[in-house]
Amino acid sequence: LDQYLSRIRERQHLNAFIEVFSEEAASRANVIQEKILAGTAGKLAGLIIGLKDNICFKDHRVAAASRMLDGFVSVYSATVVERLLQEDAIIIGRLNCDEFAMGASNETSFFGPVLNAADTSRVPGGSSGGSAVAVQAGLCQAALGTDTGGSVRQPAAFCGVVGLKPSYGRVSRNGIIAYASSFDQVGPLTHSVEDAALILEVIAGADPADSTSSAREVPAYSSLLEFKGKAKIAYLKEAFESPGLDEGVRSCMESQISRLRELGHTAEACDFPYLDFVVPAYYILTMAEASSNLARYDGVHYGYRSPSAENLESTYKKSRTEGFGEEVKRRIMLGTFVLSAGYYDAYYSKAQKVRRLIRDALFSLLENYDFILLPTAPTPAFGLGEKTDDPIVMYLADIFTVQASLAGLPAISIPAGAHPDGLPVGLQLIGRKFGEQDLLAFANSNF
Ligand code: GLN
Repeated sequence: LDQYLSRIRERQHLNAFIEVFSEEAASRANVIQEKILAGTAGKLAGLIIGLKDNICFKDHRVAAASRMLDGFVSVYSATVVERLLQEDAIIIGRLNCDEFAMGASNETSFFGPVLNAADTSRVPGGSSGGSAVAVQAGLCQAALGTDTGGSVRQPAAFCGVVGLKPSYGRVSRNGIIAYASSFDQVGPLTHSVEDAALILEVIAGADPADSTSSAREVPAYSSLLEFKGKAKIAYLKEAFESPGLDEGVRSCMESQISRLRELGHTAEACDFPYLDFVVPAYYILTMAEASSNLARYDGVHYGYRSPSAENLESTYKKSRTEGFGEEVKRRIMLGTFVLSAGYYDAYYSKAQKVRRLIRDALFSLLENYDFILLPTAPTPAFGLGEKTDDPIVMYLADIFTVQASLAGLPAISIPAGAHPDGLPVGLQLIGRKFGEQDLLAFANSNF
């Protein structure tokens, strides 16, 4: 713990942490050390883990990296936090992220951008950028992030670590600050697949506080990490032919595909005719859900209240105007627009139909194949400020991560070698619904 705390101090310029719980972590470490000596310690005894700043931890601040919640103290812990603590993990602090998890570069945070430790002129990815950098730079052993459309996987890829998005419903969302409720899932960022399996095993499972959590039994993922037999893998032709795909990323993927073939697995190019529609469908639906979820920040119930508010109307208007950043406001407005009476059918219901088509196409591919392989992101980490002027360009960074989210499928990003310019590249595998066990075992046995 002391080593991690001193490294956090040394690498403060990366801006990965919003707050470090030094004293609390130290006293907890002492208690856990006693438990280890007594032989009564839990599965995660002594694991030093950080929490993305949209995961509630009782009596600690949580702000979703927004001015709107700056200073807010959580009155209860998320189910995932309770489960980590029950198994004796040590929570070391709050990790920076995009405001309300909206972004792909960690540049929308009220607390400033996070820097990629591989090259500090570049972004770490987002929205769980602080979580990825904290693991990458050795500031903690593992971190929790949330993934709505790629926010665990894409920063994991940009920072050269492992990132897992579980199936929708595998992990409770109770105590997670909601962005788009039909997409949000908590996932681990770790150095190894083994660590990801162990953490998932602890945080997954039914929770009476989240009716969308599945009652399916949770396998002992961490002791089932050997993949026996040969896999049949589909890679999406349209993705590999996409003009936005960086050449260096493409060649990393191609050499991984040949390596998997040499190991005896089958890899085949398959059609996925919906690639152009995944980003529009994802953004229409998530903005709609976000506009509804964020309606609670009204300057009255909790969070920021404008000091110049005079009456109820101006309390709402001024608090929301001053409390939310640009990107969040853009999404609330677009989300309200697509849900409005005159446009609901043209946008929101249309996007729901497209979501169903995408889901059906992926489910039918997974009837014939064990996994779908894609690059996690079309490019390696891009420069700070490079995409902030054009939201559409930023949204296209999610083109390979949102399909698993639209379909509720589990997906993992694994380090897949270096780009010619030295940056980490991530390879993504999508598995069958609730197929985390096979996905983790395959990733562990083959990478
Ligand atoms: N970049 C995507 C977005 O901005 C994904 C974010 C996320 O998964 N939280 O919506």
